[in-house]
Amino acid sequence: MAPTLERFVSPGKGNGLRAAGGIRRGQLLHSAEPLASCVSNRLSGRVCHRCFTRPETLSRCSQCKTARYCNTTCQKQAWSGHKRECKCLRSLLPRVPTDSVRLAARIIFTLLSRSEGRSEELYTFEEHESHLNSMSEQKKQGLSQLASMLELYLQEEIPDLAQEMTSALPSSCQTPLDLIAKVTCNCFTISDAELQEIGVGLYPSLSLLNHDCRPNCVMVFEGTKLQLRAVRDINPKEELTISYIETLSLTEDRQRQLDDQYHFTCHCQRCNSQDEYGFMLSGEEATWRLLKEALPKLEEQKAESDWQALLHRCSTLLSTTGCDVPDENLFKLRMTDMALDASIHLGHWEEALSYGQKTLPIYRRYYPDPHPVHGVQLMRVGKLHHYLGHAEAALDTFKQAHEIIKLTHGCDHPLTTDLIMKMEECRAETDRKSSSCH
Ligand SMILES: [Zn+2]
Ligand SMILES: [Zn+2]
Ligand SMILES: [Zn+2]
Repeated sequence: MAPTLERFVSPGKGNGLRAAGGIRRGQLLHSAEPLASCVSNRLSGRVCHRCFTRPETLSRCSQCKTARYCNTTCQKQAWSGHKRECKCLRSLLPRVPTDSVRLAARIIFTLLSRSEGRSEELYTFEEHESHLNSMSEQKKQGLSQLASMLELYLQEEIPDLAQEMTSALPSSCQTPLDLIAKVTCNCFTISDAELQEIGVGLYPSLSLLNHDCRPNCVMVFEGTKLQLRAVRDINPKEELTISYIETLSLTEDRQRQLDDQYHFTCHCQRCNSQDEYGFMLSGEEATWRLLKEALPKLEEQKAESDWQALLHRCSTLLSTTGCDVPDENLFKLRMTDMALDASIHLGHWEEALSYGQKTLPIYRRYYPDPHPVHGVQLMRVGKLHHYLGHAEAALDTFKQAHEIIKLTHGCDHPLTTDLIMKMEECRAETDRKSSSCH
């Protein structure tokens, strides 16, 4: 089969990936397992460290007491990758290194055990950029601390990391600092079907993808397997892009985040036009500013899962100040979304549904191309309709979700099959209702 993607030099951006031939919307372009991956510390106790699913119960590695698995099959399959890491984890207990340090260690183990010239990647880890030259001193200092942590963490298995790297790895990747810098600039966040972050991984070929604030491709995960799909029709030789960040945000915020985290200034079409600016900031500034200023505190409550307090604060603000702000306003939308999350967690279905429904027309406007975030939001609202016995409305919402999910996730993804099953249930319920009327 002819390759669908090829590496090229993108003018002004360096390395990139482009379409080898014409590509259709929804087409799967690439599917890859990571060179290395790990579950985030935050979810370490709830996710299987091998398959990245979230079963009811997990058993713990008896040695490091950190890794967890859904069953002995997963544990056995994980052992070759976990063996050396296990010793290192044990040596630091009760401390657990940060996600990027654990991922960097796994990458080292993989690189050191790899036989020569076997990589089929379009872009090897050795070629990845560290961006150390364009980093601020402060940022470099932060990375140096992580590099020292990495040396300490690996001490048990690799007593002299710097020495080992110089002798065993290519010249572009010879210091622990280089490695940590490459990992932080190039790793991908692995998310579950609900788009919650569950881990980090390195997918070398896909690090070639450049950013666009309105990209023509999206990535979704199935376990740790990454799938790249086109969300628009793409011409032969056209560059393939993804968004490195949440696209639903203001140009100035996106630009700041891209500069901070990825060290470049975005010159995409969306950044150069100011069209959407007016909509996202619609309403009186003096009024929406109150919502904007309340958000950081609400984010904290959300991070702490303080749902009761979060819902109380959101619903008070939305029913007072919020009434004078148009629904398109970005800060009002964020607050409505948090109210939705909180009411779902508290089991307040009616309330959740009304918040969810409010967000849908706005999502449609702000996600002009098929996007997983939009599809998942429609599914959540569909499920709420379904719980509340509105089979017809549920079916209608699920159908809209399906139009998006089939393109972003493909027909075989578990989320798509789950959605199709839900649609079948709704159809059966509406049929039963209509036949009992006669
Ligand atoms: Zn598992
Ligand atoms: Zn272990
Ligand atoms: Zn941009």
